Amino acid sequence: MTMDSPEEHRMIREELGRFLARLGGVEAAMRQSEGQAEGEALWQALAGELMFTGIGLPEAQGGLGADMRALSIALRELGRVLCPVPFLSTVGLVGQTLAAAPEGGVRDAALARIAGEGARAAMALAAPLGADPVPGVTAQADGDGFVLTGAVAAVADLAQADLVLVPARLGDDVALFLLSSGDLAGAVTDRSPADATRPVGRLSLDGLSVAGAARVGDGAALAAGLARARLCAAAEMAGAARGAFDITRAYIAERKQFGRRIDSYQAIKHRVADLFVALNAVDALIDAAAAAWDEGDAMAAPDSLAALAAALEVLERAASESIQLHGGVGMTWEYSPHLFHKRALAMRADCGAPEAQVTALGRALLAGDLPVLPDAPEGDPLRREVANWMQNALTGRFAELRHRGGAGDGDALTDLRKDWEAELAKGGWVGLDLPKDLGGRALTIAEQVAFHEEYARAGGPGRMGHIGEGLMAPTLAAFGTDAQKARHLPGILDGTVFWAQGYSEPGAGSDLAALRTRARQDPETGDWLVTGQKTWTSLAHVSDWIFVLARAEEGSTGRDGLIFLMMPLDQPGIDIRPIRQINGGSEFNEVFFDGARASADDVLGAPGEGWKIAMALLGFERGISTLGQQMAFAQELQAITALARDSADPHAFAPALGRAWQGLRAMRHGAMRILEGLASGQNDAAALGYKYEWSNWHRSLGELAMQVLGAEGAVRSEDPEIARLQSLALFVRAETIYGGTNEIQLNIIAERGLGMPREPRGAA
Ligand SMILES: Cc1cc2nc3c(=O)[nH]c(=O)nc-3n(C[C@H](O)[C@H](O)[C@H](O)COP(=O)(O)OP(=O)(O)OC[C@H]3O[C@@H](n4cnc5c(N)ncnc54)[C@H](O)[C@@H]3O)c2cc1C
Repeated sequence: MTMDSPEEHRMIREELGRFLARLGGVEAAMRQSEGQAEGEALWQALAGELMFTGIGLPEAQGGLGADMRALSIALRELGRVLCPVPFLSTVGLVGQTLAAAPEGGVRDAALARIAGEGARAAMALAAPLGADPVPGVTAQADGDGFVLTGAVAAVADLAQADLVLVPARLGDDVALFLLSSGDLAGAVTDRSPADATRPVGRLSLDGLSVAGAARVGDGAALAAGLARARLCAAAEMAGAARGAFDITRAYIAERKQFGRRIDSYQAIKHRVADLFVALNAVDALIDAAAAAWDEGDAMAAPDSLAALAAALEVLERAASESIQLHGGVGMTWEYSPHLFHKRALAMRADCGAPEAQVTALGRALLAGDLPVLPDAPEGDPLRREVANWMQNALTGRFAELRHRGGAGDGDALTDLRKDWEAELAKGGWVGLDLPKDLGGRALTIAEQVAFHEEYARAGGPGRMGHIGEGLMAPTLAAFGTDAQKARHLPGILDGTVFWAQGYSEPGAGSDLAALRTRARQDPETGDWLVTGQKTWTSLAHVSDWIFVLARAEEGSTGRDGLIFLMMPLDQPGIDIRPIRQINGGSEFNEVFFDGARASADDVLGAPGEGWKIAMALLGFERGISTLGQQMAFAQELQAITALARDSADPHAFAPALGRAWQGLRAMRHGAMRILEGLASGQNDAAALGYKYEWSNWHRSLGELAMQVLGAEGAVRSEDPEIARLQSLALFVRAETIYGGTNEIQLNIIAERGLGMPREPRGAA
């Protein structure tokens, strides 16, 4: 029996979840920390009743198959309740390392004992899991056998282990020795661990003679095993972080101060929402790394290291917030937050500093050993078609558009970029998601992702048509009459008509419902006459039409009485004034309306339904094109890495580059998961955090660009590449503002994603 299908993964999660819930969740860990030996019975049940010690181990030795997805799920569930069993040591460390060792009697028998009988194992690692292994023991050949000498001060799960795997230095090499508890009489001292849910012992070998057969592997097997073990430890920590988060959420929903639930205070909501985004990012990294192992992808090892660093950091944060948000009871033995905090302390000792791990990733990036851009999947005909088309089309007069018009460069070459939109449309690359009867191509999500990624990989310019194609077209498709669709969709789909978005006003930003622009119906013509002001209106100065949210009912307030109008911009009564931005460019405008007209035929939905339509439109914002956007981010990171490489002290940037890479990987896999979830109709709370995640990541990238530029960053550069990075560093500040500010995003995540109380509203 293998465990490699989604159904089986779900089954593992549910079965383990039920099993652990029966034990009272974290209660078992609480009892263990009180000195009650819970672990033994739990282990017997896991190994016997559930047969879970075979997960992630080779079938040839009675395991359930080397499926890292299944193993990472099991470890997250066990971690969530700090289940006091030696699963990580046995299956995650020893099991994975033995699986990577050459087949042979002792190794095979040990794996069979773990998978079939639930033998417990420990690994005597002297260096942190996240670093290169440095054995604490030395081996010397002695006849047919070896003599082992040395000590490892803190080995998790040692005293209870039936099997102990000991990496030892053997000459210039490393050898792995597998010892049984019987071999180790007198060599093991039980120590009193800070994290009482996981025993720790000292291994002292003073000339221990072992048989030659005990040597089961070498340095290569150790390295391969530890690369997988890093993901296992990450998964268990991510589970523990989720556990700390869950108990905290429950507590703050119940606890009241000043007459209110404490989770109604924004200071608390925002921290918890921010942590939730980080938890989801770690989960995405773990899923990505697990899938990479299962699919034999070369990114498995770096993704696992990235996951290890991220998981420890999120566990430390979740545990620390848990104590803080519990207040005084968080400091007590009786409540469980301290257990998570102690687990985090123990794991930092076991795994090493995340800073060192991201630095290692950054160094690999600088050395060119780690790719920034995801590879184009070979053999995908659509990707090839896009790549070929782009190569042919981005030539001649369009050649100068390559990599132009992105963040911070949005007002560059606008006329030529409009012509480019028509070219794209002729090539059949506009309206990919729209149904065919509306003139679209009805491509699947995977196909649209392929287009957007290859478009960005080829250096396709920032899209002038994105408000029309990305926002207006799907809204028309959902709410427009047949006549409206026939009137407006063709211009969008042939790349000749450009749209602007008229929502924000000077007095209505985050609180859009406070808008005051008025629309009044002309009793003679039925047209709507609009008076008021919109602001921050992107690209209005180079657009043909604008959709406007206005107040149609006299005396109405808030979300009531609003109308959604489509209006031509080139008409009397509309005055567009560009606003100069902090990067010197002018992408957005003030738009003044003084009795400007919208035809009665251009009301989308009914008058009064404006809010509903306006919100539905926002729901379409940056759907699948986010994957293309990420490809552009990757290109920026690549450019910054190249600059760092040429700097006086490249390694000084290694930590920040490693972090940027780690964040990019998390976003990519998070976005894929969200898109897949949306396609199958799942309402994934993680999706609410995506805008917050990417915009903050990109803002940090802008800061990194300036750091790498050093003194050159502070003078306006003549070099177009550097000037573009400077502009990027300034413009990315906008991304945590437009489309809902950081603070509003956190409110949304907390309220809609985590069910926390809504913000109090003012009277006016
Ligand atoms: C580059 C750019 C392009 C844009 N393009 C368009 C466009 O094409 N069309 C359009 O209609 N709009 C556009 N916008 C406007 C954008 O949507 C608004 O700027 C945004 O909604 C914030 O509104 P505001 O600027 O009035 O800030 P405010 O709402 O006044 O916010 C000021 C500060 O207060 C905080 N704040 C506000 N309310 C709360 C709260 N309840 N809790 C906690 N903190 C709060 C905010 O987070 C922010 O930090 C654009 C903005 C930018 C920067």
